[in-house]
Amino acid sequence: MNSYRHFRLETDDQGLVWIWMDHADSNANVLSSAVLDELERVVAALEADPPAGVVIASAKASGFCAGADIREFTRITNRDQALALMRRAHALFRRIESLACPTLARIHGFCLGGGLELALACSYRIALDDDRTRLGLPEVRLGIHPGFGGSVRLIRTIGAPAAFDLMLSGRTVAARQARRLGLADHAVAEWVLDRACRQVLQRRPPRRCPPLWLRALDSAPLRPPLAAWLRRQVRRHADPRHYPAPYALIDLWRRHGASDAMFAAEAKSVADLIRTDTARNLVRVFFLRERIKGFGRGDADFTQVHVVGAGTMGGDIAAWAVVQGLKAGLQDRGPQYLTAAVQRTARLIDKRFHRCHQRIAARDRLLPDPKGLEVPRAEVVIEAVVEKLETKQAVFRELEARADAGALLATNTSSIPLEGIAAVLERPGRLVGLHFFNPVAKMPLVEVVSGRDTDPAVAARAAAFARRIDKLPLPVKSAPGFLVNRCLLPYLLEAVRLLEEGVPAPVIDRAATDFGMPMGPIELADTVGLDICLAVAEELAQALGAEVPALLRRKVEAGKLGVKSAEGFYRYKGRTPLKPKAGAGPLPAAEIQDRLILRLVNECVAVLREQVVEDADLVDAGMVFGTGFAPFRGGPLHYARQRGFAAVRRRLEALAEKYGPRFAPDPGWELLQE
Ligand code: NAD
Repeated sequence: MNSYRHFRLETDDQGLVWIWMDHADSNANVLSSAVLDELERVVAALEADPPAGVVIASAKASGFCAGADIREFTRITNRDQALALMRRAHALFRRIESLACPTLARIHGFCLGGGLELALACSYRIALDDDRTRLGLPEVRLGIHPGFGGSVRLIRTIGAPAAFDLMLSGRTVAARQARRLGLADHAVAEWVLDRACRQVLQRRPPRRCPPLWLRALDSAPLRPPLAAWLRRQVRRHADPRHYPAPYALIDLWRRHGASDAMFAAEAKSVADLIRTDTARNLVRVFFLRERIKGFGRGDADFTQVHVVGAGTMGGDIAAWAVVQGLKAGLQDRGPQYLTAAVQRTARLIDKRFHRCHQRIAARDRLLPDPKGLEVPRAEVVIEAVVEKLETKQAVFRELEARADAGALLATNTSSIPLEGIAAVLERPGRLVGLHFFNPVAKMPLVEVVSGRDTDPAVAARAAAFARRIDKLPLPVKSAPGFLVNRCLLPYLLEAVRLLEEGVPAPVIDRAATDFGMPMGPIELADTVGLDICLAVAEELAQALGAEVPALLRRKVEAGKLGVKSAEGFYRYKGRTPLKPKAGAGPLPAAEIQDRLILRLVNECVAVLREQVVEDADLVDAGMVFGTGFAPFRGGPLHYARQRGFAAVRRRLEALAEKYGPRFAPDPGWELLQE
């Protein structure tokens, strides 16, 4: 019976067949074509000789199944190929659903996408109730929607509202929540998991289905108003021109309901979506994320970090480390400087943890430590004090003397060259930059900065630390503004210039969000704080030869600092800008977009030429994860590639003629191959 590469089959003394998924070439189960081939054979054997029941389980520690093999998506060249893949999975899952015996998915760890679709084809689902189990259908994040019959089965299993909530957001849920939704029949502790599987298959309780009122929402008269409401909800987050998949999914359901006809329509819809630029670019971003994660693959045996400077950044870095399960010492000039950070940490903990014992344990992990007594126990020491060279040098002189000899010494500086800080160290090679972004809890990227002297092993360990606290580490060279601030700055300055020329702020922001940026540059500047923007601008302007617009300086001098002072370029009510309606401006939107975006792209080319970042893909990754640069465009350089490098360069030349040399194409364009 065991002639499979990716599966192991066992029959227990009750006549139940346990199918253990164990992908031979990967440490996570994925439904590649080879796996589907074998699963077809497994199912054929079960059809020929039906057992008392079937448990589908995973032998991998990582989880049940991470979904379809996304690498195979990139090899799909035409619609027929895509359609064949979907139809094949449909047929296979339908056979599983129609087996003569009951079937059960035993779920632990990741159960995502195609993996959950497989589980939904089983009669029952039992999920392990621990911190790691996550169930979800994140396909929209790749520009498609569930394509293995999951959309229909999820609606049938938990009702349309909850199903759309999961499928349109792509979010995942833990075992208990899955049980509450009806997605899992039970959420149980590890020691009863196998026993629970056996019992359910023996007793064969009726399959779960949503209550009558929920099923009624699937009826023809009620679908159109609910679909219209769903479209309005999605519109608030995703423009249909950029992200067609959620709208396609809502439409499928509006037309067919969770009927058998929706299966066929689902397959066709995914076959169409999978080849769109949006899907290809989002898949690209998925692999960029994997690549960047790879930089942090080293040993991650960290238990304690120490942060010096409990301000905006230091306080939040310590809080984040605590939430990620590390102990964090937090030091400042005196206890009074720690209070605000301790309170912020408590709020983050309450948001992240819902069980009382977890909250208490997490609070205990934050160690307010005004005297720095914890320094010798920390494996990583992060300095986040004011941006002054002498202060940082004084801090590191003391830290080097007290920290463990093997501890990482890291600075969160945004602009001071690492070499200057390292000059006071006995072993300058120990110093590395860990440049976090504000707000720490929301921004996934951390630039791992190597100075002239930084030991490569130290940089690698810093990247492993960033991974350990669930951040994406991007290796960069110590150069003014590193990658992200440097490339974002020309974009922000151009926005202020447009303002000075009389283009209304909402028109500028609208042009940027229409391009696909998560927030317009004017609102972004207000959110970051105009004083911080000005400081970065002044610092970088020198190095990059840029001009700081007078309007920015005037605002800061007038104390209009943005969200934090309730007025910057906009006025604010809480955190919400009071935007006048964006009417037509003096410039066409396309011109505004080119002025904003192409200055950013041009700076990316300069960064690449100077080898601040290793290659073009990593520039794109940094900008997508560090600034939210329109992910469906695949990153700024990829955007330029798709538009045509030569065409973008010509456009920059035209802009330079019209507006001045700040648009002059960087010499690095010469090196880019179409
Ligand atoms: P902040 O002014 O909010 O905090 C600085 C903290 O350092 C204050 O609490 C201050 O009391 C403390 N401090 C000053 N001297 C000290 C000393 N000798 N010992 C111990 N603590 C001392 O500043 P911030 O915005 O958190 O920035 C800190 C660092 O992070 C800077 O290097 C900055 O460039 C960098 N950074 C800031 C941002 C941002 O958006 N604010 C983003 C990335 C990096």
